[in-house]
Amino acid sequence: MAQRPGFPIKFSTQAKSEPAKSPAKKAASTNPQGLGLDSSAVRQRMVQKLAAQGLKDPLVLEAMGAVERHRFVESGLVNQAYEDTSLPIGLGQTISKPNVVARMIELLLEGAVGKLGRVLEIGTGCGYQAAVLSHVATEVYSIERLKGLHEKARSNLRYFRLANVHLLFGDGMLGYPKGAPYAAIISAAGGETLPQAWLDQLAVGGRLVAPTVTANGQQALMVVDRTGHGFKQSVLEAVHFVPLKSGIS
Ligand code: SAH
Repeated sequence: MAQRPGFPIKFSTQAKSEPAKSPAKKAASTNPQGLGLDSSAVRQRMVQKLAAQGLKDPLVLEAMGAVERHRFVESGLVNQAYEDTSLPIGLGQTISKPNVVARMIELLLEGAVGKLGRVLEIGTGCGYQAAVLSHVATEVYSIERLKGLHEKARSNLRYFRLANVHLLFGDGMLGYPKGAPYAAIISAAGGETLPQAWLDQLAVGGRLVAPTVTANGQQALMVVDRTGHGFKQSVLEAVHFVPLKSGIS
């Protein structure tokens, strides 16, 4: 694939360096951070990279191309928003790498026909992955245990007006029984074991994807499929997620 020069593009955080626009367009600008550039070209580059890395589900690539990741990071990190890197989001937590978000959601969709039904996300963080999920699922329930991040996600997501995303403040280790059973469960934090509540709340035919500590003491992506006969577990590649913690704070 031909490498285009100037990637990653440096976003300007200064409204004054916006390319010239008609007054009408300027007035219509709703970007609270005053980002002047159209970020969609940079996002498309990110999607091309994801595809080159082997991600291929069109629904996932489309969702990754649609969600403006730069709206979820601090203004000082906006220039790195479309690089394949995790970034701090406050309170010691991080927004996952685009590649990892796409990979996990692709795993959730594997074998599914069309969009997923109800999805449970553990670890809302800044709300980015919940926004991506909203494009591939009919309903997204996302739980965060840190009040500060729950509120940050709420404010980040307000701009997107995603009617199918439900943000919950609580301990995700308990799942969210009111929304169960889930077609898919995804965790952005890794524990020693998979909480029983997640398994209980997974629909028959549903899939769970979560980082979990394995026998060698390292974290790996765990995929659990619930069939009519029970649960089938597979251990995939090594990953590095923040720890799954119990309780709220
Ligand atoms: N998906 C997020 C990634 C956030 S990092 C994003 O796109 O930004 C993982 C998050 O999991 C952290 O915010 C952490 O506070 C949260 N977390 C850890 N244990 C949790 C638990 N038991 N319940 C809910 N959230 C939890």
